[in-house]
Amino acid sequence: MQVKRIQLLTPQLANQIAAGEVIERPASVVKELLENCFDAGAQTIEIDIDKGGLQRIRLRDDGAGIHKDDLLLALNRHATSKIGSLDDLEQVGSLGFRGEALASISSVARVTLASCLLGETSGWQIQTEGQVADVAPVPVAHPQGTTIEVCDLFYNTPARRKFLRTEQTEFGHIEEVIKRLALSQFGIGMTLRHNKRTLYQLRPAIDDNQRQQRVADICGQAFINSALYIDIEASGLRLWGWMSLPTFSRSQPDLQYFYVNGRMVRDKVVNHAVRQAYKDVLYGSRYPAFVLFLELDANMVDVNAHPTKHEVRFRESRLVHDFLFRSLQKAIAEISPATSISPAPTFAKEETYIPIQQTMPLQEIREPAAIYEAIKLPVSIISPLPNPLPQGERGSQAPSPGTPGEGWGEGLGYAIAQLHGIYILAENQHGLVLVDMHAAHERITYERFKAAHQADGIKTQALLIPVTITLSEKEINIAEQNNKLFSQAGFILERLSPTTLAVRQIPALLNGCNIEQTIRDVIADLNQHDNSSHIEEKINELFSSLACHSSVRANRRLTVPEMNALLREMERTERSGQCNHGRPTWLQLSMAELDKLFLRGR
Ligand code: ADP
Ligand code: MG
Repeated sequence: MQVKRIQLLTPQLANQIAAGEVIERPASVVKELLENCFDAGAQTIEIDIDKGGLQRIRLRDDGAGIHKDDLLLALNRHATSKIGSLDDLEQVGSLGFRGEALASISSVARVTLASCLLGETSGWQIQTEGQVADVAPVPVAHPQGTTIEVCDLFYNTPARRKFLRTEQTEFGHIEEVIKRLALSQFGIGMTLRHNKRTLYQLRPAIDDNQRQQRVADICGQAFINSALYIDIEASGLRLWGWMSLPTFSRSQPDLQYFYVNGRMVRDKVVNHAVRQAYKDVLYGSRYPAFVLFLELDANMVDVNAHPTKHEVRFRESRLVHDFLFRSLQKAIAEISPATSISPAPTFAKEETYIPIQQTMPLQEIREPAAIYEAIKLPVSIISPLPNPLPQGERGSQAPSPGTPGEGWGEGLGYAIAQLHGIYILAENQHGLVLVDMHAAHERITYERFKAAHQADGIKTQALLIPVTITLSEKEINIAEQNNKLFSQAGFILERLSPTTLAVRQIPALLNGCNIEQTIRDVIADLNQHDNSSHIEEKINELFSSLACHSSVRANRRLTVPEMNALLREMERTERSGQCNHGRPTWLQLSMAELDKLFLRGR
């Protein structure tokens, strides 16, 4: 084999390789540029995006500016004003310091950089096209601060451009980055425009009310209405921010913002502590929503563990974990019944929590009076039972297994009792049957949706009083983009205002269930999953999501006739042995297996 000679990479190639790590998509450009504005001490930032950032990303700030003679340097690799020595690195307070971002960006896009220093009368500008040539700055009219414009990202690296998704998807990522950063810097005013349309206009938030308003603007009024404000300090740690009451939960972890000393993080220690704290009050597949800030001494945490991933390293992770867990758990435990039933904006410092009369059984905090509402379904929709049992009758009084001529004891048998609001215990010819209520119901609803869709279309029901739901603009956009799917499933949705959605018609199958929660959850699902392209698959995904979110949740008490109705319906439903997520819906413990457990007959 012929020996290949070694050569130095050209600066452009080196930068393009580095760009591969830092700049994944338009949203990563926005993140880097926005952090530079923060580092420059900006008070207001205007962000203009065209075509999801594929065509143009422009940020203008009123920060310190860049010296005319440094404009070109700023676009070079390893050029930074933020550190000068290793000592500086120890206590770096800026978000950037590697001097890599602008070099990477300008190696894969067309960049214009303009800036004007405080007190100067004119600004200066340079332009580059994929590589930093030795161009001289030209004068330009510019207010104090910096404007950077990034056009045609990846225009010279076609292989990478191919990986970009649709304008809408890319913009979704940009919006998420901006939300995260806007929540980390309440004091900075920010405007976001997409294709010339203003989407966010966030004023600088200084006092508590303004901060709360910003959280509402970003996370939705519904979140703030069902959130508890906390501010807790102990052993040098402070935790403050907004956490959702258990009545406001999400089907995805998509409303979770956690900051450590002002930096957004995703951390195992943090996640675990939060999950533990909510464990008793949230059903397994639900997620809490929160915007929380942890503040601690800078030398108790290493936030520079990774430049792009949101990782941190705590010196004393046990201490941090326990503090988070205890603070959140205490806040949840102290929610009084009144707080959870009428979730008015709650703004309480630690010492002003509404006192609790008695400790509520935590499960009951969820969806108070709605317990029987959603469960109407088995009796109201399912056809009459073959052998209806009198209300309250127990299995022990039921005919003995195997009674001939009645179909008794075959299939899933008859309900005896309900266990912890989750499982149905039934008895059949072979022994004991255990049914996971939610999983079973979910499969039945899903199969019904599919069957109805394939047969003569889904039966619908108009709502005399439409259900109105407050959502973010983004969520409403998602609903609108999927309007065709929703209407195929029997819904009529209508945008009433930028943040209000009206539900005018529902599929009759969902009569009696919590429509608002279901729609919210389905939209969150649609947002999370990149939709498949086949319409048939899409509609099945929607059915599956609807079935999951509208089905009987755990902790609902069922009567014996309701349980039996569910068992009969399972027997009639195809594939009822598994829920839509592939988990089993029921299992059988035979008499022989039970005997073995008790060492009988040995
Ligand atoms: P880093 O942020 O790691 O220093 P960048 O490549 O992001 O590296 O930026 C290089 C330099 O350009 C920064 O150190 C800073 O001096 C200057 N700079 C970039 N953006 C701005 C801005 N918006 N305002 C003022 N200076 C800026
Ligand atoms: Mg930077």
